[in-house]
Amino acid sequence: MFVPPRCPYAACTAHLTPTVQFFHRDGLYHPRCRAHSVQRYRCRLCRRRFSRQSFRADRNHKKPHLNAPFLRLMLACVALRQSARILGVARRTVERRFLWLARHAARFHSNRLASLAGPFMLDELETFEGNRYQPVTVPVLIEPRSFFLIASAAGPLRRKGRMTPAQRRLRAAHEAVHGRRPSQSAAAVRAVLECLRRCLVSQGPVVLHSDRKPLYDRLGRRLFGRRFRWAPHSASARRDRNNPLFPINHTNARLRHFLSRLRRRSWCVSKRRLRLQQHLEVAALWVNYCRPITNRTGTTPAQALGLAPRRYREEEVLAWREDWGRLPIAH
Ligand SMILES: [Zn+2]
Repeated sequence: MFVPPRCPYAACTAHLTPTVQFFHRDGLYHPRCRAHSVQRYRCRLCRRRFSRQSFRADRNHKKPHLNAPFLRLMLACVALRQSARILGVARRTVERRFLWLARHAARFHSNRLASLAGPFMLDELETFEGNRYQPVTVPVLIEPRSFFLIASAAGPLRRKGRMTPAQRRLRAAHEAVHGRRPSQSAAAVRAVLECLRRCLVSQGPVVLHSDRKPLYDRLGRRLFGRRFRWAPHSASARRDRNNPLFPINHTNARLRHFLSRLRRRSWCVSKRRLRLQQHLEVAALWVNYCRPITNRTGTTPAQALGLAPRRYREEEVLAWREDWGRLPIAH
């Protein structure tokens, strides 16, 4: 049985401090997208009407039943056009729903991120946007014991490394048209560490495991000061379970497995890195709150860290509004 936890209108007193009986029931209506009728209510304070739908994240959606299957497809290495074909809707519909999903996922995650103690683990995975002359770095930060994905970002890189003379010519031609591509690895890593700073416990050292890239140490000391402890490890050691960076290597391998955009040798590469960033937010929602750490445990990373009481189904993480920020909601 649904009980309105607050008045949905932010200007009303019953929005932040609802009394037990701030509302009374006020009729029913039949939405076109659902088989059953929906209860309406009226706020005793502001006299405005609302319904159960006012609290749903999928209010105004014509086909809300597609949201959970769409989330599953986005983590099943399926691209947007394919999802549209599978779900039987227009391409524009899934494009719009993808943006909604990313926004909702980011809010859901940020409303639950709190008091992390560490240690933490960071690595950058590399991909590209559009073509091979536009590489993108994706720093990924996790809590390694629970495999909880704390933050990720996407920043541009200039193509480097081994190139044939023909490839060098192509890069020069590309840069003549688009200008020299900036390398913004530092800005992307900084964004990820700033997110960590917002959800740290107030005291104690901040331990960061990573490979030996000096940038991590420099940024860590700048952001966390004396609390920062860097634990660098060799990146060339064998990448198996005994590797101290196994949790982050494994996380990045899983992201490549779940996200069509990150697959190697695929047509589904991102055209714009912003969309990759948004897809990573969707991935964090599912990987942290819906998917168990391993198939055998049944415990999700968020559960292991005490950030969620249980494993959620895809329908549950997409059910309720998250745009009110960190308010205590009684669902
Ligand atoms: Zn009200």
